[in-house]
Amino acid sequence: MVNPAILTVDDDPAVSRAVARDIRRRYGDRYRVVRADSGDAALAALRELKLRGEQVAVLLADYRMPQMNGIQFLEAAMDLFPQARRVLLTAYADTDAAIDAINVVDLDHYLLKPWDPPEEKLYPVLDNLIEAWLATPDATATETRVIGHRWSAPSFAMRDFLARNLVPFRWLLADEPEGERLLTAANFTAADVPVVITPDGKALATPTEADLAAHVGLSTTPASDFYDVIVVGAGPAGLGAAVYAASEGLRTVLVEQRATGGQAGQSSRIENYLGFPEGVSGAQLTDRARRQALKFGAEILSTREVVGLEAAGTARLLRFGDGTSLAAHSAVLATGVSYRMLDAPGLAELTGRGVFYGSAATEAPSCSGEDVYIVGGANSAGQAALHFARYAHRVNIVIRGDSLASSMSRYLIEQVERTPNITVHPNTEVVGGSGEEHLERLTLCQRRTGSTRTVDTSWLFIFIGAEPRTNWLDGVVSRDERGFIVTGPALLRDGQRPAGWSLPRDPYHLESSLPGVFAAGDVRADSVKRVASAVGEGAMAVTVVHRYLEAQ
Ligand SMILES: Cc1cc2nc3c(=O)[nH]c(=O)nc-3n(C[C@H](O)[C@H](O)[C@H](O)COP(=O)(O)OP(=O)(O)OC[C@H]3O[C@@H](n4cnc5c(N)ncnc54)[C@H](O)[C@@H]3O)c2cc1C
Repeated sequence: MVNPAILTVDDDPAVSRAVARDIRRRYGDRYRVVRADSGDAALAALRELKLRGEQVAVLLADYRMPQMNGIQFLEAAMDLFPQARRVLLTAYADTDAAIDAINVVDLDHYLLKPWDPPEEKLYPVLDNLIEAWLATPDATATETRVIGHRWSAPSFAMRDFLARNLVPFRWLLADEPEGERLLTAANFTAADVPVVITPDGKALATPTEADLAAHVGLSTTPASDFYDVIVVGAGPAGLGAAVYAASEGLRTVLVEQRATGGQAGQSSRIENYLGFPEGVSGAQLTDRARRQALKFGAEILSTREVVGLEAAGTARLLRFGDGTSLAAHSAVLATGVSYRMLDAPGLAELTGRGVFYGSAATEAPSCSGEDVYIVGGANSAGQAALHFARYAHRVNIVIRGDSLASSMSRYLIEQVERTPNITVHPNTEVVGGSGEEHLERLTLCQRRTGSTRTVDTSWLFIFIGAEPRTNWLDGVVSRDERGFIVTGPALLRDGQRPAGWSLPRDPYHLESSLPGVFAAGDVRADSVKRVASAVGEGAMAVTVVHRYLEAQ
């Protein structure tokens, strides 16, 4: 992390050098001294520091400067760094002006020049001011900042993207003072949000996910154009495949359309994954797996959606949404499943503005003290209910069936029952939602009686089962009637190999109807939809990739 700055501004070069020298001598190991020779130059330096997310601890400004005097400068600087301590450097004749400044710019101190020896006249003052600054919230780490509107789908999408890619960021509302200050420093207005300020100070207004990924250190372009194996989808299955493939010496690239971790990355607590007796959050598991894959030399590409697959001789060619392609000897399809949409009037328009698919973990703290509705009765809904119950006034689980027993694991049902602010509404359906700027109310229907009622809420989280998004594989590999990829012995019909199969052997386990293309995890027909089985299939797929490559 870059050291916080102490900024001095004086139009007299000799005095300016002397001030900087004295400060550096005592504070140079912990603070960066930034020197400017006019108020304008100092403000430009402050704007740059602000955009880079750096901190300013103390501002020292000479009173008598042409164009902009020290008080005017400090007043303008307060808009950018209100927590920085402010010192005016004055000659004896200017003490009246300095005293007036105490009110105008909330001056912390005025220093009479010259201050020799600094040990007596300068350092004790600065020591106190730095100590006071260290107690302010500004003395925190540098990070990516997102400035947006509370109820805005694009602002939510940006935060969700960063959170799911494990990029630390600070969320600021455009109408909060700090948000306004950052927008001004970046020459943007509230009309331009969401605006992302990257750790190196770049300001991006409504960036695409690919643009944002590239600016926050996520890789988006492959280093090579040919690999031993391309893994598509970076959920547990894809990450598992990438770790095993790279650790076993295969040139491996893992391609993800949105965020590493897949569905598991959205889980607030996975309690049944081997080796984590206290449970592990999806974010933690993803972070570890991602680092492990990178450690072994796998490349991970983010924000790259694969939209096509074809055989080109023995190579397998994957096409991206932007028209570019990538080739390999083999491919592992680990594209998982995505939530089904809840088809009720009003909900589509409010998605991202109170209506969310999955747990949208970034929203939990905002639900503080409010009523939250969750649709769905599977484990994912149960985990989310427990997570939101820590913040919300009441969490309401809406299910169509009689009870959670048929769809949720026993350990989760027990936890739900033990949590006093969770209520389960059986035989109930959400049949509509409405609101102006954001979701304000839901219509619930009692399925037995057909009666409806309206409840006030700003929060609906939907977990209603999932489907594979594999249309892009139509005609390329065999899929079942629901779109899951059929593999291995299941491809044989009355002992016959699938149409177009070109090799003198049956498909291996996990191999699709296109030789050298394997499927692992939730996207595979008849797979167990669990983290452990997805990771296991990812690892197994690599073993069969080896077998396939050896026979080539
Ligand atoms: C909230 C929640 C909680 C859960 N809790 C548990 C639990 O406690 N225990 C448990 O065992 N299981 C749990 N599950 C289920 C578990 O997460 C899944 O079974 C597991 O994630 C499946 O892994 P996967 O890698 O096969 O697919 P996914 O996790 O679905 O990952 C697939 C990835 O592929 C990417 N992708 C899709 N299409 C493309 C494309 N065309 N191009 C590039 N990338 C693409 C997706 O963006 C996604 O990141 C939970 C699921 C959810 C949603």
